[in-house]
Amino acid sequence: MAAGTLSPGCPVEVTDFFQVCRGSVAGAEGPLDRGASCWRRATVRRPVFERPHSAGPAMTQMLVPRTPTGTIPLSAAYSDPNEPRPQRVDLDRIAKAVREILFAVGEDPDREGLLETPQRVARMYAEMFAGLKTDPGRHLAKVFNERYDEIVLVRDISFCSMCEHHLLPFTGTAHIAYLPSGKVVGLSKLGRLVEEVARRPQVQERMTETIADLMEDRLQARGVAVVVQATHTCMTIRGVRKPGSLCLTSAMRGVFRTDAASRAEVLDLIGRKD
Ligand code: ZN
Repeated sequence: MAAGTLSPGCPVEVTDFFQVCRGSVAGAEGPLDRGASCWRRATVRRPVFERPHSAGPAMTQMLVPRTPTGTIPLSAAYSDPNEPRPQRVDLDRIAKAVREILFAVGEDPDREGLLETPQRVARMYAEMFAGLKTDPGRHLAKVFNERYDEIVLVRDISFCSMCEHHLLPFTGTAHIAYLPSGKVVGLSKLGRLVEEVARRPQVQERMTETIADLMEDRLQARGVAVVVQATHTCMTIRGVRKPGSLCLTSAMRGVFRTDAASRAEVLDLIGRKD
């Protein structure tokens, strides 16, 4: 890493290390011949990542997981109050388990390419399961009094969740519609809701029901319709191997469950291509 790539004033950490060079290293400090290659002592200047005062705890998320030391509270790593905040994730325990898996499949976890894989996978699971013990319904706490009493629909909310049977991702879109009873919620909160419910090991059927139940319970909506469509990698990359297959689930509450005309209307809106 060339010192010239660092911006002026950027704090640097100076590290000595031995670099393998091919060919002549004339003039290098303390060259040691090693056959076709040579070793020389070099000095590397790396930027030191300090937490800017204004950046809040977001940088902690980048720095802390690099050297997991047991059970790390990830709650401090999320600067966005809307982000799921897991209580605690035992990164070391996940990393040890991943290392065991690598052994079990006949790999060498100590080879260069896999050295950091267990910690990397641990951080990935912490992210994928960040909604495990949270209350996604908190996103529906702030409501606005409105006289509007027709269908509110937010379509094509993308998500990525994890199949609890295979621990493989399933990805797709969710569509949420509701009939307000004098109270509406910010539209972006429906995206937050889906995002947080998705970050758990689960099946698509339960994910759909969970979103519908929270909408009905927290908003006291007269009707709720949730449709989720997703591709399951446990169906596409293994087992039956059917790429392109799509799984659709729906959950109806209130008027949309009891009244066929209302249900047809909302499903028509969700299914429209425009
Ligand atoms: Zn599965």
